[in-house]
Amino acid sequence: MKKDDKTQRDLIMEYFKKHPNKDIKHPEIVDWVVSEYKKRTGKVFRDPDRGIRKLAQEGFLIKIAKGVYRYDPAFVAKRDLEDFTPAQKEAILKRDNYHCVVCGRGKEHGVELQVDHIKPKDQGGKAEIENGQTLCAQHNFQKKNYKQTESGKRFFIRLYAAAKKNKDKTLQDFCAQILEVYESNGVNGHIVWKK
Ligand SMILES: [Zn+2]
Repeated sequence: MKKDDKTQRDLIMEYFKKHPNKDIKHPEIVDWVVSEYKKRTGKVFRDPDRGIRKLAQEGFLIKIAKGVYRYDPAFVAKRDLEDFTPAQKEAILKRDNYHCVVCGRGKEHGVELQVDHIKPKDQGGKAEIENGQTLCAQHNFQKKNYKQTESGKRFFIRLYAAAKKNKDKTLQDFCAQILEVYESNGVNGHIVWKK
């Protein structure tokens, strides 16, 4: 999804959320989003009808009649704009061969598989298949709880690459040892270190 599309979706939802449980006709919402989008971004909101239809298809709005939509908070309570849909989850699991991308375990090893946002939602990570990965419950938990060690791993990966380039064997070995500690403990396995 492009950045503009995301903003446009958010804007449509903003209007509906201001008027919960109300049947809203196309012209009313279209007029508002078009002028509001222009005001906020200076750009033209193209095809708002399509955006509304899409949100209804995805289960965020209820289609009441032709050109009439309603936002029911209870109906979408569990639905987050950046959550993966069941179809997306299935596609991600299938792509990853139904195994955790960190440890390679699957249901046959008695682990529960979960679909994780590679870039987290709160950092702007999108509900796109490319931003999803299969993790076992343990590695999903670790990823969430070991966030503070991520920048360290990235730092040593960069330092390792620089040392390798400069043929600084001591520094390269030092970084490799630290990175091996990460790997042997299965910490931040989603950040790939290419040796
Ligand atoms: Zn795992």
